[in-house]
Parts: sequence; C-alpha cells; structure tokens
Amino acid sequence: MGRLFGTNGIRGLINQSLTVDMALNLGKAVGTISGPGLVATARDSRMGGEMFTRAVTSALLATGCSVVDVGMAPTPTLQFVVPKLGCAAGVVVTASHNPPEFNGIKVVGPDGIEVSRETELRIEDVYFGRRFTNVGWDRIGTVRTYDSAIDQFIDAVKSHVGVEAIQKRKLTVVVDGANSVGSLVTPRLMRELGCKVISLNAQLDGAFPGRNPEPLPENLESLRRAVVAIGADVGIAHDGDADRATFVDEKGQVLWGDQSFALIAARVLPKKRGSTLVTPVSSGRLIEDVAREAGARIVWTEVGSVVVSHKLKEIGGELGGEENGGVFYPPHQPVRDGAMTAAQTVEMLALEGKTLSELVSQLPHYASTKTKVPVPPEKRNQILDALLRLTEGQNRVTLDGVKLLYDEGWVLMRPSGTEPLWRCFAEGRSQDTADKLSQMGVKLILEAVDKV
Ligand code: MG
Repeated sequence: MGRLFGTNGIRGLINQSLTVDMALNLGKAVGTISGPGLVATARDSRMGGEMFTRAVTSALLATGCSVVDVGMAPTPTLQFVVPKLGCAAGVVVTASHNPPEFNGIKVVGPDGIEVSRETELRIEDVYFGRRFTNVGWDRIGTVRTYDSAIDQFIDAVKSHVGVEAIQKRKLTVVVDGANSVGSLVTPRLMRELGCKVISLNAQLDGAFPGRNPEPLPENLESLRRAVVAIGADVGIAHDGDADRATFVDEKGQVLWGDQSFALIAARVLPKKRGSTLVTPVSSGRLIEDVAREAGARIVWTEVGSVVVSHKLKEIGGELGGEENGGVFYPPHQPVRDGAMTAAQTVEMLALEGKTLSELVSQLPHYASTKTKVPVPPEKRNQILDALLRLTEGQNRVTLDGVKLLYDEGWVLMRPSGTEPLWRCFAEGRSQDTADKLSQMGVKLILEAVDKV
C-alpha cells in the first residue's frame, strides 16, 4: 500500500503530485471514517486552495457529512473551532511554509489536533482500498458558511493574556503575514491589545510576492529593516498557515526559535509547581536550562508537532515547543499557534519592562552545527540498528534516531523523513565544541553505513 501522509499532512505540487482527484478521494476517506457528522474546512491563501477545498467538500457531502466552511483562516483557527462546534473532523487546505507551487491537506480530529499516525493509516487504508461510504439521495450532507471563527479565536487568545497591562504599554509592532492568512488574525489581535500595528505582506496572494512563506532569517530582510526604521518594539513573522511565529527584536535581529520558545517557557513553567514541558529530542540545552530553573519536568518526544500535541493532551502538560519556534499552550489549545505565541511575546514585553534584545541576552548561549550525511537509499533504515550497537552503553536517548548526551553538549543523529540522508545536529557551549561533536556524529554515521 502506498503512503499519502508525510510528516505534516499531505503535501504536493499543485496539479502534479497533488491533484483534485486525490483531494476528492481523501475527502471521501475522511468522511467514511468520521461520518456522518460535521466537518469544518478552512484554507490558506495558496493557489488551488478553493479548488481543493471544493473537491474535499463535495466528497464529504457524498459520504453523508455536513460541512462548516470557515473560509480563509489560519490552521490554529480551524483547530480551535473544531471541538467548539462538536465537529467529527476538520480539514485544512494548506502547505504551511512550502514554496508557492505546493499545496497540501491537513486532517484534524474531533479534539482539534492533527490526526495521529494510527488514524492516518486508517484513512490511507480506505483511500487506497477505495472502500468509500456512498449514502442514499436523502442523506447527502449540507454546507453552511461560518463567519465568526476568527472573531471567536481572537477573543480566546486575548482571554489568556493580561489585555489591560499590554494596552497600557502602547507597543509598536510590525506584522509580516507572508501574504497569507496570518494577516487576517495577528494585525487585528495586536491592535486590540493596544499596539500600534504596521503590516507587511498583508495582501492575501498565493504567488507569495512579498517573501518565501518560511519565516527563516534570510526571508525576513524587509521585516528586519522595517522594525529598525520605524523604531518598533518587535517584529512578528508567520509561516503560510500561521501556526508558527518568528520574532525580530528592536535591533532588527531575528530570534532563533529555541530562544523565543525559552522566553515563553521561562514565564509559563514557574506558574505551577512541577510543571511538565513536552518537546522533541531535537530541542537543545537552552530549553533544558529553562525547565531546570523552573523546577519543571521535560518529557521528550519524537520529532514532529503532531506527536508533541498528542503527548501534551495525554499527560496534561503545561507547555510544548519546538526548536523551529512552534509553541503549544494547552490552556488555549494543545497545538502550535502563531497568534497565541505572538500575544504571549507582547505580554512578556509589556510586563517585564525590558526590550526583546535585553531579554534574549539574559539567556544562556549555545552554539550549534547542522550537517547532512548522504547515505545509500537502500541502507537508510539499517543504519539505525548499526548506530544503536555502536553507541551502546553511552548516555543516550533513542526515541527518534540516536541522541548522545555529554557534559559539554549533545549530538543527535536521525534519518531524514523524505531524502536519502541522515541529519547530524550538535550543540555545545562553544562553536568549537559543537563542531567537534558534529564531526563525531558524522563519523559514527559513516561507520554505521560501513557496517550494513
Ligand atoms: Mg505551518
């Protein structure tokens, strides 16, 4: 049986590796598994968004599901309304941070969390076996549009921060919405929090004329310049579906994802004794330091935001986060949410009375090195067994690849989900240490390749 889902839902080149027929059959499979019931749909500003949403919608109706159409909205907004409306599922047409020629589909369960691997397998089973429900003429579903999702979502985010305290500070904020749906939420949210808001790339356009939708430092030149030129307190950049937020300090420096995550963790975790933080094994020492300082426990997971969400829900954790800047705040919802993260960041600026660069400079500094090691495709999977044997008895975490822990730093070796290569990620107190740990990891991977 083939695979439909990748690490984050289904992604493909529009009209090539992701077609209307696929969207139609996926809609039928989702309806077959979760129906008959309500299914909420939403999409980002990408090309083909309307085409794929309509295909999924028609398919859901044919299986007897009824559709609540949220329209263009961030993924976290759809995730927020799914449990509120008692939906059996949710479908978001988005390719997140991929380049413009891509689109994709994320499937969300009744709890608003993207479906687990187990549910994906059930959907794939129906999809490839074409065992679709096809209801009688008198049980075809109906569609209604739902206009108030964004209003409700913004109110919910505001209920988790000190609105009046933020309003008093009258912060200046530049929001770069990446020509996509983040622009429908975050500028308004910031205005309602009393901030003066300047919007960049706020026109919705699936060609992404403003910048590449991935909020990496090299794509945020306009935002960095705008923040400095305007004298703003902070810049906020979203990815294509606004589940992530990247921050720029008042000096125009882009924060690393683990820095913005650590700053929020340092405020959230001490609120309760013995808080639990959930994070993938790829997260670094900085977040461990912050958790230790707050007396919090860390629960490690495999790499991937969906695993973090499900673990948070399972154990009732206080906070989740990824080193790419995804932050999960379960009192709001246990999924990555760029607007919630932005609200928490401006609240921090308002309450701490320090600039963002000052707050960052108080964090411990670690250097990191990332290396890719090409491996023969046929050996990709056996390498793990060899690596496990080579590192036996060492202080290690083997949840996802192999992570070796040392006093001076750590190195994580794991296979790429999509390409014939292994990734080696090392971190240490100095660049020299990080480089040495990385070289050691690369050597171990090559030794493992030789042994299989
Ligand atoms: Mg995203």
